[in-house]
Amino acid sequence: MPQALRRQLHLANARASRREAEMLSTSAQCPMPNAQLPKGVFIMTELAPIIQLGNPTLRQKAAWVENIQDEHIQKLIEDLVATVAKANGVGIAAPQVAQSYRLFIVASRPNARYPNAPEMQPTAMINPKIIAHSTEVVKDWEGCLSVPGIRGLVPRYKSIEVEYTDCQGNLQKQELTDFIARIFQHESDHLDGIVFVDRLENTLDMITEQEYQQRVVNN
Ligand SMILES: [Zn+2]
Repeated sequence: MPQALRRQLHLANARASRREAEMLSTSAQCPMPNAQLPKGVFIMTELAPIIQLGNPTLRQKAAWVENIQDEHIQKLIEDLVATVAKANGVGIAAPQVAQSYRLFIVASRPNARYPNAPEMQPTAMINPKIIAHSTEVVKDWEGCLSVPGIRGLVPRYKSIEVEYTDCQGNLQKQELTDFIARIFQHESDHLDGIVFVDRLENTLDMITEQEYQQRVVNN
């Protein structure tokens, strides 16, 4: 595909996903405000170190979250939101900070690593599941905070129907498409010990971050 066309597609996807992101941002405030936590519990946000490919925790199947109100889980959510923002990511899964729980943050916004990403409020998705998906599969570029310096063209379902528990403990059902659906599928894989390079159809679909910036973003 010519680079100019690829960029146009990126922009069209970004516009479509922005509407979807606006819809997502109306869901529960996340992380839970201190005022809603049990009396005497105050959460101090910290940046969590991100583990990299080769660390065995990234290859484990993560554990179901039993108690969303648990102080440790609420703090983990808060730390993940801060960590993904600082790292210029659009999503981060708990196993990436060596916490093997089935929870991730989707936090799409334009940044240095993803200039065309749609803007949305960071959303915590706990015990997430894909309950249905399109037959259409789309290949597009992905990177991963745990696989620095590498980008790959990854095939993903164009649209998915998902279910997850939000940070307030409410069950949410949503249909996600394009970029946001891609983030969900990427993060969901982390909960099963899968990283995006496992999904590449061909090693020729893998390039360095520097080449990605020159060939894809600045074209
Ligand atoms: Zn990742």
